[in-house]
Amino acid sequence: MNSIDPKDRAICMELGDEALAYQGAVAPPLFLNSLFSFATVQKLHEALDNEKNAVIYTRGNNPTTMLAEQKIAALERAEAAKLFSSGMAAISSVLFTLCKSGSHVVCVNSIYGPTLKYLSYLKKYGVTFTVVLEATREAIEAAIQPNTTVMYCESPGTMTFRVLDLSMIADIARKHSITTVLDNTWATPLFQKPLEHGIDVVVHSCTKYMGGHSDIVAGVVVSKKTFIEQVFDEAFMQHGGVLGPFESLLLLRGLRTLPDRMLRHQSSALEIATYLSKHSKVKRVFYPGLYSDEDHTLSKKFLRGYSGVFSFKVDCTSYERLCGAINACHRFKIGVSWGGYESLIFIPYNGKNGAQLSEKNIPLGLIRISVGLEDAVTLIDDLEKLLLNI
Ligand SMILES: *Cc1c(COP(=O)(O)O)cnc(C)c1O
Repeated sequence: MNSIDPKDRAICMELGDEALAYQGAVAPPLFLNSLFSFATVQKLHEALDNEKNAVIYTRGNNPTTMLAEQKIAALERAEAAKLFSSGMAAISSVLFTLCKSGSHVVCVNSIYGPTLKYLSYLKKYGVTFTVVLEATREAIEAAIQPNTTVMYCESPGTMTFRVLDLSMIADIARKHSITTVLDNTWATPLFQKPLEHGIDVVVHSCTKYMGGHSDIVAGVVVSKKTFIEQVFDEAFMQHGGVLGPFESLLLLRGLRTLPDRMLRHQSSALEIATYLSKHSKVKRVFYPGLYSDEDHTLSKKFLRGYSGVFSFKVDCTSYERLCGAINACHRFKIGVSWGGYESLIFIPYNGKNGAQLSEKNIPLGLIRISVGLEDAVTLIDDLEKLLLNI
């Protein structure tokens, strides 16, 4: 079973906490204030001259949020990180910063739906994009145009969980002076560190595993300090997608237990994926952690471990029948999202979108589950019920 880098565990548990600065408090204080005041006007002006690093007004920086940013940057082995009010606020701010009128974006792998929707809205500013699902060197190079400025990737994707060769993508992008962005939400910084493989910018929805308790919505951008400062200036301060200090505190609390939660999600998911892979009603399991997965060998080059979200395909294309089977589950809650303590189940097929799904290589009988922290045997019992109804 894959393990956690001891350095990462120390970052999650104690980096930057400085208990002694706060009378020995073992949990960092919550700075709930919107505003910071100064002893003199000159000191305020000095701070305003260094707005990106100073604490002046919470729409810019806040000490509680900065502590979470420091930890996430360290986990990704990056110079800097900026938290946002959601994963989409982070993603849209990165794309807004990197694109200008006439830019072209190459999207590699199956990309989070709202990200593609955001890109389609940028059409009114003359920004176009191409999606590459089968991420071979040839296919990616064929999609590049003279005006391509961004390669936007997700690995693993979160429907069929295909894994990307990050070094190859960084290599292609470098040759064409294209900036690479990778959505690393599935793996978390504990299991994949894309910047170490030459990716330029990492984004996460911290709503998922990093928060881990389904009680916050948050996002983060991680990169070189110069890029984070550019995003701060061009898309953060003015758009105002700031994470509230209380959410930052909950995120810090989530990070403390992230290593142990991830190990548990991983071991339960592997147990359940193995059970499903042997079941006669299951045609295929999409989980790179399984030895039999088509991307397992490739994944070992980039992933230190495997999280708890994956999908499987059953031999059923009847919407009613699929719904009946899923409604028979009691332990899995029905819902989108994932990465919390609770197990979730979801089907992308809604009885009407068959054509759109096949365009994205998503089979109609695809069922996605997020394996939570419950007992794996209990969850397997629930899936047994589901499969009896297929
Ligand atoms: C949830 C999710 C997002 C968006 O994050 P929000 O916090 O919901 O805005 C982006 N990418 C992936 C892979 C996600 O699962």
